[in-house]
Amino acid sequence: MRRAEGTLGLVSSVAPADPARRLLERRTGHPVISLYLDLDPERFATAPARAAQIRSLIDQAARELDAADGLGHDDLVTLRADLRRIDDYLNSREPPFRGAGALGLFCSGQDDLFEVIQLPRPTAGRVVIGRSPYVEPLVAVLQQRRWLVALVNRRAGRVLGGPLDRLEEQANFDEYVHGQHEQGGWSQARYERSVEKDTDDHLRRVAEAVNERWRSERFERVALGGPVEIVPRIEAQLAAEVKACVVPKRVEVDLSSAGDRDIRHALAKVVLEDEKRTEREALDRLAAGVGSGGRGVGGPEGTLEALNERRVQTLLLEPGFDQHGARCQTCGLLMLESGGRCPADGGPVEELDHLREAAIEAALGQGAEVMIVRHYPDLGPLRGIGALLRF
Ligand SMILES: [Zn+2]
Repeated sequence: MRRAEGTLGLVSSVAPADPARRLLERRTGHPVISLYLDLDPERFATAPARAAQIRSLIDQAARELDAADGLGHDDLVTLRADLRRIDDYLNSREPPFRGAGALGLFCSGQDDLFEVIQLPRPTAGRVVIGRSPYVEPLVAVLQQRRWLVALVNRRAGRVLGGPLDRLEEQANFDEYVHGQHEQGGWSQARYERSVEKDTDDHLRRVAEAVNERWRSERFERVALGGPVEIVPRIEAQLAAEVKACVVPKRVEVDLSSAGDRDIRHALAKVVLEDEKRTEREALDRLAAGVGSGGRGVGGPEGTLEALNERRVQTLLLEPGFDQHGARCQTCGLLMLESGGRCPADGGPVEELDHLREAAIEAALGQGAEVMIVRHYPDLGPLRGIGALLRF
């Protein structure tokens, strides 16, 4: 299937979903085993608890293979070997359990695929065997923006970057810019001008680091924090494309005393407000577009039609949306009912237990963003699903 390049829409900063997109892009139609191992520290912190979950998922996959119809002999032989490989791997010392909320594991011997992805938050353990990687949990858990954060005061500055739960130091400025000016012999006005110039020099250096980081890595939002009289001065020094992504809410920490935990805690409030604002904007655009022939559709029927026509810019889902559906095995057309052949090309139709997964795959396949709407109930009347359209 031809895949559209990711195009940047108005809400392009939602859900990077890169691992999911990457996995889907390399699929060839050979069967893939997707396994999610829950590492929730409250339930699976100990090795025996983890081992029991691994056993249960492997057994479940083996039963599915025994019962599978529609798989050829070669497929079955390879899948059984894949399953043994996953079993051996998960029971070895290799898997990166430490620091993970869950692991996603994707294996297809026929495609030379064996990939393990660490998820920062827990997700339910499950195993799915299908003709493409099962990516919905990846999209849901990795729906985090990458932030570039600049915290400043008159003397110091810190630049951090990454998703909220994996912020890393990018630059640290800890300098005594005013120490060299003795006031003696200087007029008060001249002294103050000199101090202000040093502050500007310091803020410019921090701003240059922010601009440089922004250009060399991919971030989606910029947050600033510091004394109210200082923050506008660094903001003024930021490049235009960086400034455009500065969120209105400030990170409220005192740089001279805040530790990394305080910074994360303060940034979490900014992230939450930004999530809400982005959801609200998307839902308002949806409401304006639905029913007026505009660029929005709501409900499973309309959304599938838009996905099939490759018109979706942003797929919006309630966290719990899922239902049965069907998909043409030839052209990928999505349908709500599985009766008969594909209306487009007469191809065979497969039943889907998880329309949610199929809709996300179709959305990522056409370069659309996926937004799980967590903060507002607007999708309820639309039966949990809707889409903003490109045209
Ligand atoms: Zn078809």
